Amino acid sequence: MSFIPDITAVGSMALDTVTTRFGTHKDCLGGSAVYFSMSASFQAKVGLIGVVGDDFPKEHTELLKAHGIDLEGLEVVPGAKTFRWSGSYLNDVNAADTHCTMLNVFATFEPKIPENYRKAKTLFLANILPSLQMKVMEEMGSSCYKVCDTMNFYINSARDELEKVFEKADVIFMNDGEARMFTDCPNLITAGKKIMERFSPEYLLLKKGEHGALVFGRNGFIKAVPAFPTEKVVDPTGAGDSFAGGVLGFIARNGRLNNDNVTEAVRYGTAMGSFLVTAFSIDAFRDLTLAKIEERVEALRFLSK
Ligand code: AMP
Repeated sequence: MSFIPDITAVGSMALDTVTTRFGTHKDCLGGSAVYFSMSASFQAKVGLIGVVGDDFPKEHTELLKAHGIDLEGLEVVPGAKTFRWSGSYLNDVNAADTHCTMLNVFATFEPKIPENYRKAKTLFLANILPSLQMKVMEEMGSSCYKVCDTMNFYINSARDELEKVFEKADVIFMNDGEARMFTDCPNLITAGKKIMERFSPEYLLLKKGEHGALVFGRNGFIKAVPAFPTEKVVDPTGAGDSFAGGVLGFIARNGRLNNDNVTEAVRYGTAMGSFLVTAFSIDAFRDLTLAKIEERVEALRFLSK
């Protein structure tokens, strides 16, 4: 029987060079789709759509497979180079300074959706060119639950296309800096309300790094969820995508978000982000188990009792 994912995800697959106060890691496994899929894999079956060059180490694809992530949607372009990103967090652990973005295989990528991925109940559009997010969203059809993320790079370079994605999304993820930049509004509550008014998604999840997350729903619904107190933040790269992986993993097990379950869903996202940042790349996910995740979610429940 063919594999039918709970979540079809499209996004970047990358080789990242990251500098933090804990050192520099060169060409390590990264990319929005990688962080998202690894994080979601603890709770859900993920089908990944992405592209790499033939320089992408086999051990990385093996690791993804070992986590049950389906790679039928992964294209390997012979003779081409994988997307590369480099950045540092020396001044502010919550915001990356991008040094270099090399699109490489991304520049000409035409995502192809395997037939069985179209049956997934949830679609996650991780960071990738908004035109590609749109293409995948249109091809998946209207019945799936459409969730998207974005970043400053696309707010600056592809705003019109990004707005079209937001118009069709059921749930939008953004971080605080991006929401302020997108709305040109310094107050985060006002920024969140503006995004809700303009695009009317079911939920807007605003991530605030070490300060937790804000949930905006329709009819003025707002909730705040604290972050897990984490002292040793080694590498925050991918925390946003890992947060999304936790939330969508929860959705795969419990159904779509509503005002009663959204706080719990955000706790799963928060737990995944809090594990991820304790090591470089996806290393903190290597030995993680669902039992340890549940334990952290319980600690988060206790924290806001
Ligand atoms: P996050 O820290 O959650 O925003 O995600 C970090 C990941 O995003 C890194 O692994 C990068 O490879 C990836 N990334 C950086 N810039 C881009 C971009 N322009 N498009 C897609 N992914 C990117």
